[in-house]
Amino acid sequence: MREAMAGLRGAVRFQAPLAEYTSFKIGGPADVLVEPADPEDLVQLVAQASAQKLPMFVLGGTNLLVRDKGIRGVVVSLARLRSIKEEPGSVLYAEGGVGMPTLISYAIRRSLAGLEWAAGIPGTVAGCVVMNAGTRLGEMKDSVKAVRIVTPTGTVLDCPARDLIFDYRRAALPAGIVAGVWLQLKPGVRSDIEKVVKDYLRYRRDTQPLTLPSAGCVFRNPPNDSAGRVVEAAGLKGAHVGDAEVSRKHANFIVNQGHASAKDVLALIRKVRAQVARKTGVKLELELKVVGQA
Ligand SMILES: Cc1cc2nc3c(=O)[nH]c(=O)nc-3n(C[C@H](O)[C@H](O)[C@H](O)COP(=O)(O)OP(=O)(O)OC[C@H]3O[C@@H](n4cnc5c(N)ncnc54)[C@H](O)[C@@H]3O)c2cc1C
Repeated sequence: MREAMAGLRGAVRFQAPLAEYTSFKIGGPADVLVEPADPEDLVQLVAQASAQKLPMFVLGGTNLLVRDKGIRGVVVSLARLRSIKEEPGSVLYAEGGVGMPTLISYAIRRSLAGLEWAAGIPGTVAGCVVMNAGTRLGEMKDSVKAVRIVTPTGTVLDCPARDLIFDYRRAALPAGIVAGVWLQLKPGVRSDIEKVVKDYLRYRRDTQPLTLPSAGCVFRNPPNDSAGRVVEAAGLKGAHVGDAEVSRKHANFIVNQGHASAKDVLALIRKVRAQVARKTGVKLELELKVVGQA
């Protein structure tokens, strides 16, 4: 394991508690968590870890439930790959670790429209491509022009959007780590862009439990319906296991009221699915990604 870390310039933390790296504030340790210093450091890490045959997992941490015994192998955070560059033709290139809120603020300052739909999504731009993150106003696939991927052997591959397949809250990309994303935006009027963003943030504050740790929506919306509606219709608002609770504000959020474990959240998910299936006939599927060892 230590050979794979040799010569890296970024941060390397052994036995890193992943609860500190997830919006749910839940999760056991990573054997090792690495924050590459820059794209070259990321390439070096991937090449060395694959030479050692170490499993790798990359996180932003906002759509994840990490199980209580954590993740074996190397967990990569792109928290230090945060630069944004403007290119001709209203294109932004964002390194994979740029947070969506930062990217939206940048686009507003440059009077570039097209990302307003994502206001309030806390993930990284790379995580948002992988998940094809979206809201009722739009989704990631509307703006992605190309992605830069570091393949499992450590080569850098730039893929245009036409080679990627986007679907509801998922994308099929070549294997590897998304190290950067080109976004095609359009010239806009700064005050108009700002207004849409502010209105959407207010709507989120009014309808979502943003003051408690969560991983956003837990279930995918069933066809022509909303998961929050069916969970609420099954009488599950406020249902809990330990400190994991179905939010009283938005029934498709599970919140961590303090010391919830992954085991608590998974037990609550099972309870919600069973009760929803019994009362409404709907089989809910997870949007949340569950990873690591129980
Ligand atoms: C309060 C709140 C509100 C939210 N609202 C929304 C919403 O409105 N719409 C929405 O779609 N989502 C929403 N989310 C969920 C989440 O922010 C998105 O799914 C986001 O796309 C996840 O990005 P992430 O960087 O945190 O990725 P993670 O959650 O860490 O990872 C998601 C998946 O992507 C993979 N991944 C992450 N980074 C990379 C990379 N660089 N290269 C390759 N694979 C990678 C991971 O391995 C994992 O499989 C919300 C979450 C919260 C907490």
